[in-house]
This record gives sequence, C-alpha cells and structure tokens, in this order.
Amino acid sequence: MRVAIVGAGMAGLSAAVDLLDASAAVILVDAAPRAGGKVVTERVDGFTIEHGPDSFVSYRPAAAELAHRFGLGEQIISVTEPRVVHLRSADQMVPLPEGMGLVLPTRLGPFVRTRLFTWPQKLRAGLDLVLPRHLGDDDIAIGRFLRHRLGPAVIERLADPLIGGIYGTSIEELSLDSVLPMLRSYERDSRSLILASLRSGRAARAGGGGSPFRTLRGGLGDLVDAVTAHLRAQPGYQERLGVAAEEASTGGAASHLRLASGEVVDCDAIIFATPAPVTARLVAGELPDAAAALRTIPHTSTAVVTLGYPPDAFSSPPIGHGFLDAGSGSASSGCTITSGKWASRAPEGSVLIRSFLPERSLALQRRSDAEVFAVVERDVSEAFGTRSEPCVRRIARWADRMPKYVVGHQDRLAAIDAAISVRPQWQLAGASYRGVGLPDVVTSGKAAAAAVVADALR
Ligand SMILES: Cc1cc2nc3c(=O)[nH]c(=O)nc-3n(C[C@H](O)[C@H](O)[C@H](O)COP(=O)(O)OP(=O)(O)OC[C@H]3O[C@@H](n4cnc5c(N)ncnc54)[C@H](O)[C@@H]3O)c2cc1C
Repeated sequence: MRVAIVGAGMAGLSAAVDLLDASAAVILVDAAPRAGGKVVTERVDGFTIEHGPDSFVSYRPAAAELAHRFGLGEQIISVTEPRVVHLRSADQMVPLPEGMGLVLPTRLGPFVRTRLFTWPQKLRAGLDLVLPRHLGDDDIAIGRFLRHRLGPAVIERLADPLIGGIYGTSIEELSLDSVLPMLRSYERDSRSLILASLRSGRAARAGGGGSPFRTLRGGLGDLVDAVTAHLRAQPGYQERLGVAAEEASTGGAASHLRLASGEVVDCDAIIFATPAPVTARLVAGELPDAAAALRTIPHTSTAVVTLGYPPDAFSSPPIGHGFLDAGSGSASSGCTITSGKWASRAPEGSVLIRSFLPERSLALQRRSDAEVFAVVERDVSEAFGTRSEPCVRRIARWADRMPKYVVGHQDRLAAIDAAISVRPQWQLAGASYRGVGLPDVVTSGKAAAAAVVADALR
C-alpha cells in the first residue's frame, strides 16, 4: 500500500511513523522546506528559541512516547521550580494562587488568601458551592458557563487570560465541550466545579503532584529531527519538502495528489494533516460538501515575539515563569520567562523572554518587525525594568494557523466526518479537529494511519 501524507507537522510525522511500521510505502509532502510544522526550534548565540510550542503535557502520553521511542527519553525535562506565574492587571502584578488548575483552584487556602480578587468577588465565586446544575445538553461558551457559576471577576482576571492565552482567543466564544469537556463532567458528577476541582487536586497530590509540563532539553525540534532521521532511513519512505499539494482526486481505486511542481502522486490512500482550510481547498474538486464543512472551522492568527537579553540587562532579573495579562491594556496576552521556566535555554546570566500577541492584537501582528519589537520591548521593560536592549530578537507569525474550537465544534466535526466518510481511503489529522496540544495531534496522526490500514484490509 502506498500512502500520501500532506503536511509534515507532528500529526503527519506520527502518521508516517505508524504507516511505515505497518509496511506501507509513504510519501510525505509539505509546502514548507522543512518538516515539523509549528514545531520550530532555533539556536542562536547560546539561546534556544521555540517559535511555536515549547512543551507538552505528560498526562497525555503520545508525545512523550514518541520521544522515548526515538531515543530522547533521557532528554525530557520538567519545568524549573519554583513555578511562579503572575497575573498582570492595570495596576498590579499578582502571583497566581498556588494550586491553580486550568481555571479552578485545586487548593482552597491560596485561593481564599489571594490578592487577585476582592472579598465580594471571592464570595461570588463561592456561590458555585450551592448553585444548582446549569448545563443542558447543548454546547455553551466556556465564558458564559463560568460566569454563571463563578462570577465575572474569575472570568476576566483568571479564566480568560489562562485559557484564552493558550487558544489565542477569548473564552467568550470557545466551546465548553471541545476545549474543557472536563468541566461538564465536574458539574454533572459533583454539581460544584470548585468541589470537584479540590477533589481532583487531592487525588493528583496523592499521586505525586508536580507540573504536568515537559519539554526536551535541547528544544522540541530535536523530536522532529529524530523522527525525520528515522523516516529517511526507511526504504519505503519518500518526501517532497518545499512543494505544496494543490488538489486531491480519485480515479477507480486509486487516489491522486497533484503538487505545485506539476508532479502527480498516485497512491492508495491520502492523509490530510494540514489545517482544515487548506484541506478544504485540496478536496474541494472531488468532495465539495466536505470542503464546505471543513471551511466552518475558523482559524485565527497569533504571533510569538522572542527577545534574548544579555546579563545585567535587568535592574533585578525577572523571577518565575512569566505573567499572563489580565486586562492591563497591553497588546500582549502574556510573557514566558523561558530562561526561568526551562533549564539551559539561555547563556548563564542571560534572560530569554517570549511574548504572545493574540487575536485582539491582529493589527499589530501585521505591522513591520521593527514596530512589533518596539511595542513588545517597551512592554517587557515596563513589566521587568530593563537597562539595556535585547541582543536577540525574533518574531514568528502564525497567520490563520491557530484553529478555534468555537461553540458547536463537535457538530462541525460530525458534519466533516459524514462528508469525508464517502472516501474512507482519505483521512484527516491535525490540530483543527480533536485537540491542539502536541500529544493530541500525534494521536490524531496515529488514528489516521490506523484508519487507512483498516480500510485497506477491508
Ligand atoms: C505559538 C504556538 C504555541 C504553541 N504552544 C504549544 C505548547 O506549548 N504545547 C502544545 O502541546 N501545543 C502548543 N501549540 C499547538 C501545537 O503546536 C500545534 O497544534 C501542533 O504543532 C499542530 O500540529 P499539526 O501537525 O496539526 O499542524 P502543523 O504543525 O500546522 O503542520 C501542518 C503542515 O501542513 C503544511 N501545509 C500547509 N499547506 C500545505 C499544502 N498545501 N501542501 C503541503 N503542506 C502544506 C504546513 O507547511 C505545515 O508543515 C502551540 C501552537 C502555536 C502556534
């Protein structure tokens, strides 16, 4: 069996690994000149810069398993302690209460004592303990649900910065059932979200606790390098990098993938590991209904600005892992102090900072590099007090590349699945559908590979 995989991000790479394991021949096609997709690690002047993801969670094992398989198990590292993250509002920088889960406290004491909320705001959040269940069967925006249970302050000062920061957009439009389905089960099983979260916090601490975030000592690009080295050593493997796929079609039992170079790849199956809008274009000629369904998944833009500062650039070196913006009016949704969060990311004494420009700062994302750097450098200076300029500046623009799981996402997936299922030899993978995290996209690649193998055996 010969399978074409479009998109060499982590989804496409993981599909390729499994298909070669299953003795299929694979041709991997990517428009970019290198594999890895959003995983881009650059090393410059002793700094290790991640232009895309910088970590993966340990409670979904697929990414770590891939690292172990390709000899990188020893390179997996956890975040540096202490894990202090601040929330920046218009007038203050307040540490995130200890024991915060994604939006809910897993320990009551620090939440009760935090300066982040006033007493009336804390009491309003405490109403969650007595409010009856709120959810019906339908999906709902996370913001709306949490506002009902915990009140507006928790949304604005905590939930939106935390979740919106990850998804690059506001929780007022993100789907509860696709982004945080756990909250639905919390309410169903325990009624109170806070009680359910405290209970799961106790269970997690009993199991050892600790941060779930992991990365590779040398950067996530090492995983891409290890996987591509493995693929290239397999006799059944071919790749076309720097060549976009333009159209997929079928003729009899065969599938055909036309590339921008003019080459037509003939194969038995195709895995589309491209963002949904790209996949829509590729299948539009053959499956217009699937293309229309794929176009219903919105994608937004984000930019990551990385600044490397020499030793002594700060009046006092920034401590902790960084801050999330909670309505300070800044263009950035927050900053990671990369050199404080992970070991060996910057030369001794130097500081590496990543700042994120979310959807609401789209106009700034589109300005020139120099204009963006000026804004972000001023922001970093106001937050941490710089005495000198950065020695390294980088920007990564991910235009229309961040999938948004907005309310109704599950219905959209059902419509896509129904429309594409008429071609069981065509499978979808990647971040547009069932999880944006690296473990999720690795799993999606594996599932797509398994599905084309199962179809071939039918
Ligand atoms: C700034 C940022 C930070 C993130 N941080 C984290 C994090 O810390 N932890 C985490 O788990 N996740 C994080 N994510 C999410 C995660 O990085 C992505 O969801 C994941 O890498 C997507 O993998 P993918 O294979 O689905 O898609 P992609 O990596 O987007 O790969 C798709 C590939 O398709 C190719 N392509 C597009 N069009 C064509 C075409 N016509 N023909 C051929 N090829 C084409 C592209 O060149 C690309 O290589 C982050 C994402 C971003 C942008």
